[in-house]
Amino acid sequence: MSENTAVTPEREQELLAKVPTGLLINGEWRDATGGATFAVEDPATGKALLEIADGTSEDALAALDAAAAAQASWARTAPRERAEILRRAFDLVTARSEEFALLMTLEMGKPLPESRGEVTYGAEFLRWFSEEAVRDYGRYVTTPEGKNKILVQRKPVGPCLLITPWNFPLAMATRKVGPALAAGCTVIIKPAKFTPLTTQLFASVLVEAGVPAGVVNVVSSSSASSISAPLMKDHRLRKVSFTGSTPVGRRLLADASQNVLRTSMELGGNAPFIVFDDADLDKAVEGAMAAKMRNMGEACTAANRFLVHESVAEEFTSKFAAAMSALKPGRGTESDTTVGPLIDGGARKDVHALVTEAVSAGARVATGGSPLEGDGYFYAPTVLADVPNDAEILRNEIFGPVAPVTTFATEEEAIRLANASEYGLASYLYTRDYARMFRVAEQIEFGMVGFNAGVISNAAAPFGGVKQSGLGREGGAEGIAEYTTTQYIGIADP
Ligand code: NAD
Repeated sequence: MSENTAVTPEREQELLAKVPTGLLINGEWRDATGGATFAVEDPATGKALLEIADGTSEDALAALDAAAAAQASWARTAPRERAEILRRAFDLVTARSEEFALLMTLEMGKPLPESRGEVTYGAEFLRWFSEEAVRDYGRYVTTPEGKNKILVQRKPVGPCLLITPWNFPLAMATRKVGPALAAGCTVIIKPAKFTPLTTQLFASVLVEAGVPAGVVNVVSSSSASSISAPLMKDHRLRKVSFTGSTPVGRRLLADASQNVLRTSMELGGNAPFIVFDDADLDKAVEGAMAAKMRNMGEACTAANRFLVHESVAEEFTSKFAAAMSALKPGRGTESDTTVGPLIDGGARKDVHALVTEAVSAGARVATGGSPLEGDGYFYAPTVLADVPNDAEILRNEIFGPVAPVTTFATEEEAIRLANASEYGLASYLYTRDYARMFRVAEQIEFGMVGFNAGVISNAAAPFGGVKQSGLGREGGAEGIAEYTTTQYIGIADP
């Protein structure tokens, strides 16, 4: 399938026919216990795409049986062999990038060029961690007292539950599966019910790449807690890695405390996008478009609060509104579409409620401001100016194509406003002044800072947040450490 092949209904059906519809347990695709299925729908049309097996608690435990049984031999498998399997998975995903891109567009709604970008980004975690698999070093040193030795070695944590969100169906899976397999852990993946198809197809690629039976299991389900609850009560599970909302993360942390599970929590964000008076405004608008509109604003890294110096606010806002109003909403498979639908009707209602509240609190609509008529869950790309600092929209993750703009007068005020959030994931600074970049980065409480850059995610960089944005990091050298535990051996001199 090439990039230039038109997306026809036949091509869509041909692709959907390749997606396994069962649960992957111990290397076999099987029906859910009791045979239940659930429908996955296209958010651009509201129509069902495919019915897949609806996993139960019993299926989850069968997946854990398989993961626990495979753990010891997978941990013993040579790192080079694990690396080669991951590298083959990278090659296969890359070779089938058009299939993965179209599947994400169908089940999630993002325009095809964005889905292609996610395939490139998502596949890179497989390549990066195939390279990290053979570089998971320990150390051997003499004690400070000068006698006896300290040997420190890293071991896989053990069977992991990986729970992923719907907004980046491929990348959120590869970002967890890559380091887990590289470290020698077996996994059970529970994808989001809106977008399980990409994970189903990805799992078939992992099997083709040579992942042994039981090492990767997939239990899709319409009921997330019926999968996570029994697994997290079972002492054989050793870790849960979750990407999703802060309220669900909080609940999982409470569940994880029962068996003192290792956790990685990639939770919500409320990113400030700070534009100083010396910024290159055209570059700032370009960055704002990327930071706001990637994935229709449905990203944890999405710029949510535009803090603009009062002397440039008017110019920035009018250029930003012009760029937003030039976007073309539509089904992601159409070639002129530049912005897709929101994931469902509830998400669109929540976005509109935030806009309505901001407007009644005094915000001015510079462009957009309402849902779009017709099929699917479309919302007009929106810029709100003069948003009061106490508006709800500045406190909540918007998760939609809406940009609230507010102003500041001094650097100190910008920092104070940026930090006025319980979240601390991504942040963005636009200024020509490198000294200011270091000064501000020092003082803002965010796990990630984009300096004159609207997109900062990279497989080689540690992705993650502080405060209520979560615990742990994904990607970079930090990513594999999340899946290892440290063992120390004190060695007496002979
Ligand atoms: P969500 O929390 O509703 O769901 C995420 C996953 O958790 C899904 O697989 C869902 O089925 C599962 N889940 C839901 N309730 C559960 C429960 N009670 N027990 C166990 N699992 C449960 O989030 P979402 O709507 O899918 O994704 C959007 C959220 O994810 C946003 O808050 C966004 O910021 C966040 N996110 C964070 C990152 C990051 O890396 N920090 C990346 C992408 C998305």
